[in-house]
Amino acid sequence: MTALSETPTAFTADSASPLVQLGLRHLGQALPTLLDEARQQQVSYETFLYRALAVEAQARHQRLLQRRSQAAHLPARKTLDAFDFSFQPSLSERQVRELASLSFVQTATNIVVLGPPGVGKTHIAVSLAWRTIEAGYSAFFTTLTALAEDLDAAGRKDTLRKRLRFYARPQVLVIDEIGYTRLSARQAQLIFELVNARYESGSLILTSNKSFGEWGPLLGDDILASALLDRLLHHAEILTINGPSYRMKERLPLLQNQPPEHAP
Ligand code: ADP
Ligand code: MG
Repeated sequence: MTALSETPTAFTADSASPLVQLGLRHLGQALPTLLDEARQQQVSYETFLYRALAVEAQARHQRLLQRRSQAAHLPARKTLDAFDFSFQPSLSERQVRELASLSFVQTATNIVVLGPPGVGKTHIAVSLAWRTIEAGYSAFFTTLTALAEDLDAAGRKDTLRKRLRFYARPQVLVIDEIGYTRLSARQAQLIFELVNARYESGSLILTSNKSFGEWGPLLGDDILASALLDRLLHHAEILTINGPSYRMKERLPLLQNQPPEHAP
């Protein structure tokens, strides 16, 4: 045990240092700077201790989040604060902010984001999924194509059951891009089974460029589609974005036939 008279060894990286023994790696790195700041600002012992512990706690929280976001297959972080609601007046900011309070997770309510390409459907879905894991809930992100192919590829019955259980488990499952590919009869059946397994037990966040009426042809079966929508929409919030593509924002002047700037 390090004697108090040897306090300075606390700041070294050798194994006798209490920082190393307690695994306070981030604090060890930040300590020289923290000490300099404390001396310059003449902060109290309490403030210094608080700052030191906060550095370690924050860094651990960030690492945990990073691991959880990777396990959840989340795309790069998007936030609602970075979303320009004034660009999409058809979308209710109040409704989206209310969803961000995450009560939908507790009530296993589904969220369906509808709209044409580029209006921010994935942005909203990813922002909500990030909030979900930041709050300590479990989530998983996939696209309909990847999900259907994965379930379809699980040939044997017990493998398939395992995959279904895998997708049924997270408290929030995001299925992005419903509408870009048509499903085979088997794929449609498997997606229905999954929606059924999650019904009233876990939230789905879906994004689609197709209105619900078009989901029949998408699944190749009108009756299956209506049974799926019945379960999906029983407890659901629908966000419809009817606006211009944000991707086209910079190109709008060109699309509106304005002459290029370098034109004579
Ligand atoms: P969709 O999924 O509807 O096709 P995305 O969510 O992929 O659209 O949006 C396309 C790009 O534009 C993304 O980089 C997204 O972050 C950005 N974006 C879309 N809408 C907005 C908005 N209203 N404010 C800020 N960025 C936006
Ligand atoms: Mg998208």
